[in-house]
Amino acid sequence: MALLSAKPRFEQNGLTVPFITTWEFERTSIPRLSIRIPPGGGAHLTYADENPMDRDHHGVLWARQGLARGKGKALFPEVHAFRQRRAMFDLLCQVCGGNTTEESFDRQLYVMNSAKGMPIQEGELTTAPPVCQGCAPEAASSCPRLKDRHVAAYAEYNHPWGVSGILIHPHTLKPVSPDPVEISYGDPQVKWMIANRSLNRLSGIRHADLRTFALVG
Ligand SMILES: [Zn+2]
Repeated sequence: MALLSAKPRFEQNGLTVPFITTWEFERTSIPRLSIRIPPGGGAHLTYADENPMDRDHHGVLWARQGLARGKGKALFPEVHAFRQRRAMFDLLCQVCGGNTTEESFDRQLYVMNSAKGMPIQEGELTTAPPVCQGCAPEAASSCPRLKDRHVAAYAEYNHPWGVSGILIHPHTLKPVSPDPVEISYGDPQVKWMIANRSLNRLSGIRHADLRTFALVG
């Protein structure tokens, strides 16, 4: 099947470098943290030099990461925070960056690691953006995380649920834990997050054939 659009495609060691992969010069930084208290109340975390790119559509603060796709080496399997966020919000293919809604407006195809030992579940939360059907075989065969251990399904609904990242203590401005946490957009603690992944909740799940990625049933 033809690719959805003529997006730039990069290869390394014979493998396609997915759209969401981080490249060598795309470094992450956490600027100096501060607290903002708006006139009406509602204190929240901010950067001392915050700019409009630092927050997502839900007002959550994100880690800063440089943009230098295609420069230097691809850093498999590191995921680029901003491209992952864009891919989740706009339903871009995680491999080619094309818009999967141009292929199908009714449902998106997801190919994921099968580490949980079960198919993709109704209501499952995921940080994985969709893939277009043309890229699905390549994703399953080339990605070390998916090779020989993937599950695949179509989701009719892709609801933005929340973010994964580091939770900052509102008094110390230090991480509550070094480990990432997942917090929904409706949780007040999201005001103290530095996010680096979007999570969507998938529903209307219909399973896909694991070899052809066609809809089953
Ligand atoms: Zn694609």
